[in-house]
Amino acid sequence: VEEHLRQAQKMEAVGQLTGGIAHDFNNMLTGVIGGLDIVRARLASGRHDDVQRFLDAASQSAQRAANLTQRLLAFSRRQSLNPVALDINGLVRGMRELLSRTLGENVALDFAFADALWPVRADENQLESTLLNLAINARDAMPGGGTLRIATCNVDVAERDARLAGARAGEYVLVEVADTGVGMSAELLERVFEPFFTTKPIGQGTGLGLSMIYGFAKQSEGHVDIESREGEGTTIRLFLPRADATAVEAAVAGAPVHAAAD
Ligand code: ADP
Repeated sequence: VEEHLRQAQKMEAVGQLTGGIAHDFNNMLTGVIGGLDIVRARLASGRHDDVQRFLDAASQSAQRAANLTQRLLAFSRRQSLNPVALDINGLVRGMRELLSRTLGENVALDFAFADALWPVRADENQLESTLLNLAINARDAMPGGGTLRIATCNVDVAERDARLAGARAGEYVLVEVADTGVGMSAELLERVFEPFFTTKPIGQGTGLGLSMIYGFAKQSEGHVDIESREGEGTTIRLFLPRADATAVEAAVAGAPVHAAAD
């Protein structure tokens, strides 16, 4: 039953996804075709005014369509993960410059690192792009400024809590990313993990950020959840599994550790 349910949900997501893309892509093609039609008509009647402008518009529209297919390809390819033992505190510290620049002058960046944080087992690139994506979302949610707080801690998820949260029991490192932005309504919150779901204008949002983070958490055998209140802010919690001692040794020795296939 669960397998069927999962399959049905997947099909629904694919349906929404292809419908949305077909629509966007069609709009872009309409821009290209429309622009070229106008240019053809002008040239046929010997008028050269504005021809350059319409050609530019057509070319821009074509470029947007090309970007969309690029993103689609990247999404469907879903680079395979290369999980290694990572020190999240160090990784976040190393991203301070990049995160501050992303957030802009009006948003303060605040860290709260736990001491003796366990190493996690995760793909470094994916973790970095996750944090960057969350910072971009936070910036967009705080147009009038605010604070982004990144906190880390060790958590031991008990069997019972794990069942409630849909995660596995075990030892995790929790990375909490909290903003003081506009927050989300319950309806919005329900859809944010859907691929290509965005409330941002075309060219600004892809709607892939959170769905990729969801995929990353699942593939890492971790967990992600979001808590949000309209007008108050949003907190994303990312649970990544603790790396075991052998993984740490291997990582120190420079050998990447591959997750066992399940
Ligand atoms: P994108 O950012 O490209 O729209 P995401 O999947 O990252 O794609 O986010 C989907 C939607 O979720 C956003 O368009 C926005 O409406 C909402 N959202 C995401 N993060 C936040 C946040 N920190 N605060 C408020 N809304 C958010």
